[in-house]
Amino acid sequence: MSPSPGPSTRGPSMPAAAARVIAVDTYDIRFPTSRSLDGSDAMNPDPDYSAAYLVLRTDAGDGLEGHGFSFTIGRGNEVQVAAIDALRPHVLGRSVSELCADPGTLSRALIGDSQLRWLGPEKGVMHMAIGAVVNAVWDLAAKAAGKPLWQFLADADPAWLVSQVDFRYIADALTPDEALELLTRGRAGRAAREAVLRAEGYPAYTTSPGWLGYSDEKLTRLAQQALADGFTQIKLKVGADLADDIRRCRTARAAVGPDIRMAVDANQRWNVDEAIRWTRALGEFDPYWIEEPTSPDDVLGHAAIRAAVAPVKVATGEHVQNRVVFKQLLQAGAIDVLQLDAARVGGVNENLAILLLAARFGVPVCPHAGGVGLCELVQHLSMFDFVALTGTTEDRVIEYVDHLHEHFLDPVEIRRGHYRAPTGPGFSAQMRPESILQYSYPDGAFWAADLRDQPQEIPA
Ligand SMILES: [Mg+2]
Repeated sequence: MSPSPGPSTRGPSMPAAAARVIAVDTYDIRFPTSRSLDGSDAMNPDPDYSAAYLVLRTDAGDGLEGHGFSFTIGRGNEVQVAAIDALRPHVLGRSVSELCADPGTLSRALIGDSQLRWLGPEKGVMHMAIGAVVNAVWDLAAKAAGKPLWQFLADADPAWLVSQVDFRYIADALTPDEALELLTRGRAGRAAREAVLRAEGYPAYTTSPGWLGYSDEKLTRLAQQALADGFTQIKLKVGADLADDIRRCRTARAAVGPDIRMAVDANQRWNVDEAIRWTRALGEFDPYWIEEPTSPDDVLGHAAIRAAVAPVKVATGEHVQNRVVFKQLLQAGAIDVLQLDAARVGGVNENLAILLLAARFGVPVCPHAGGVGLCELVQHLSMFDFVALTGTTEDRVIEYVDHLHEHFLDPVEIRRGHYRAPTGPGFSAQMRPESILQYSYPDGAFWAADLRDQPQEIPA
């Protein structure tokens, strides 16, 4: 195994050989988003966007830390934090330079923990915790190299990237040799694409107008604002009530006109036959894709829906638990659009596998974002894909939602409907210390005051 991306990707601040991880600090951070119905959809009517957050601290003396998190929507964030805490023994005392040179070794150790594996395997709370820890390592590695993560990945040697992917359970669809060929071919012409990326950014679409709890007036105003801001695609939440959905789709279509792509998102609300009927009933408004029409585990259900609702595309991925299910969705011809999530699966390593699978099957990746911090993370994966893997942004857009970015040190920047390429080193994962203090649950300043004011609403 090639041990590192090579000296050319290392900055002068490469950690001292003897430096170790000395702490994995965790935080339960919750934002009271349910009060404005931001994020409301047919299955999640009152989310409090939350982060089970961790900081890797080292004794390198260079001031660098690795930051990572799982995204949850409120209650249960303490369970997610506990899952990250359970991984601490795997990380404490590890050599910082070895971690940064080969995050894949830690990833395999976490996934392969002989007792914790029973809680998955490779799915759910434990797997999301692994993703948070692994992503924190990548944040640290990119910071040590002095590069934003997208560039750290794009500059990396293809053979080293292949070494970072776990091919177990996917080699029937993608072999290491095929991955190497995709990455080697993907590098050709990358300097020109990097220049395009820096000049123009990466295309985005916005979900901000379409939350289910918003009034028609607010929907119209925000849809028109999206148009004015340069977006060419918006998304509406659907699935609670068909008559409401027809009215809201009509309202949104009237606001943006016929030329803007309008996706709809049911957040897993339907059975397969219901998904087909409902999507067809919205057909007159020309939906671009139907997102999460049914259970994220139902590969064949998605395939049946896709066959029945064409030309409306079928999209899913934000709750797809690992690369194996993505493999099956692709093998079954079940999706037109793959919506990977930076914090759902086992971190950057598994998302490399998922990007490679999508490239292998020729399916565009339009990542899930929104949440808290998900836009910050996932932009790096799409930008790497453009610069050094598929080489295209055609029919590819990253979701954008315009809230909670102010809590990050290196927040996403949107210009004319495009994500600007991050320039700061790392994975853009680092939250402001004052935000962590204020929104820590239940003892941060915000929640302490809130719970004092409303003692009858303290959750058990
Ligand atoms: Mg969605």
